[in-house]
Amino acid sequence: MPQLHDHLVPVFEEIVRRNAGEAEFHQAAREVLESLGPVVERESHYVDSDVIRRLCEPERQIIFRVPWVDDAGRAQVNRGFRVEFNSALGPYKGGLRFHPSVNVGIVKFLGFEQIFKNALTGLPIGGGKGGSDFDPKGRSDAEIMRFCQSFMTELYRHIGEYTDVPAGDIGVGGREIGYLFGQYKRITNRYESGVLTGKGIGWGGSLVRTESTGYGAVFFAQEILHAAGDSFEGKRVVVSGSGNVAIYATEKVHQLGGTVVAVSDSSGYVVDDTGIDVELLKEIKEVRRARISEYAAARTGASFVDNGSIWDVAADIAVPAATQNELDEHGARALIKGGVRVVSEGANMPTTPGAIRAFREAGVKFAPGKAANAGGVATSALEMQQNASRDSWSFEYTEERLQGIMRSIHDRCLATADEYGMPGDYVAGANISGFTRVADAMLAFGVI
Ligand code: NDP
Repeated sequence: MPQLHDHLVPVFEEIVRRNAGEAEFHQAAREVLESLGPVVERESHYVDSDVIRRLCEPERQIIFRVPWVDDAGRAQVNRGFRVEFNSALGPYKGGLRFHPSVNVGIVKFLGFEQIFKNALTGLPIGGGKGGSDFDPKGRSDAEIMRFCQSFMTELYRHIGEYTDVPAGDIGVGGREIGYLFGQYKRITNRYESGVLTGKGIGWGGSLVRTESTGYGAVFFAQEILHAAGDSFEGKRVVVSGSGNVAIYATEKVHQLGGTVVAVSDSSGYVVDDTGIDVELLKEIKEVRRARISEYAAARTGASFVDNGSIWDVAADIAVPAATQNELDEHGARALIKGGVRVVSEGANMPTTPGAIRAFREAGVKFAPGKAANAGGVATSALEMQQNASRDSWSFEYTEERLQGIMRSIHDRCLATADEYGMPGDYVAGANISGFTRVADAMLAFGVI
């Protein structure tokens, strides 16, 4: 495991002590702290001012009860969270996740990552994240609506266009954002478009927001390939997951001349050597909300595997786009054996530290999620811009802005990695570049 700089050891120890049992938060914090060694060595004011310790403590953490009534008339109780982590650069910004695995540690890791990701976009947004341990799987539309209404009945007092602007994440897509926005509008009696992003196109949403995270992760990989004089043309690609990020990553890979040969969900993965049929995938996942095995059932030549790892499928490029820690060292070694050259994280922290080390040792170019999947939040910020100016932009113009932002994040990561003596290290480049932007703003504000 890479070492922490002496000055940062007590910072990490304090994080572990004060956030007991929050393994994912410890993992995310450690990764950033490991990158900051050369920064504190060169610029001691970051240590003297204690800005790193302050940054690792959320500004505000909200935990609340979410009671709702299911279709059988029984009362259900879930737990809601919003961690408002850092507002040095703008209002808290980050998604809401509805998944049974959600707890305060998961939300805190996601909120922490979000601070640096949002800083990297160069846009005026702080970092936050929220969600609930509610499991939307198998729930009717009416149950989803009642849950969202109850969730917003508490959340509304903490959010606002200039305060905190949630969006979607796992289990929260356009349908849920609609129910959440409707309830916010009803409670506050305000049509405050800028309070949520990921809205429908007819009521304040932005074109490209749905596609943006997946497209962005592929644009980032394209920049890596370009820097090596290469392109997506003719490349085999594996994308894990089959939700919002995975579907649109697949679509963009195909537009750029590559072939996505495998996608997955929590029940297994499908292999389709002729290239995943994106329209069929959308029909199964976005319309029918069904399991990935139905893809193989509907498509000649495709097969479904429920007892293996998607990382065993040989590919030139991998885009993990499902969930945290889904790609471990074993999976990384399988990918390396299969000839992988570029890994671009569509999900948040999908790759374990052991897997990242294996990629580094094998010379695989590795783009961390806080850089590679920043296209989603960047386009959310473009949605906020359109809301603020009562304007709406074309698909082409918005996609061009997204691609420009991904290019500049890529270049910023590389330039920062070079500046600190770690050429080609996108992890260090992303962490240092995001950190310095946030820390410098915090220092300007004094100790607040
Ligand atoms: P969706 O809910 O649309 O899709 C999630 C996908 O991942 C599904 O295929 C799901 O399978 C799979 N998945 C989720 N949890 C697990 C698990 N524990 N084990 C195996 N598979 C799992 O979510 P998104 O596509 O929006 O998000 C995917 C990732 O991208 C997350 O890490 C998210 O934080 C990140 N992200 C999303 C952004 C966005 O704009 N949506 C922005 C930036 C990052 P199943 O249906 O079987 O559960």
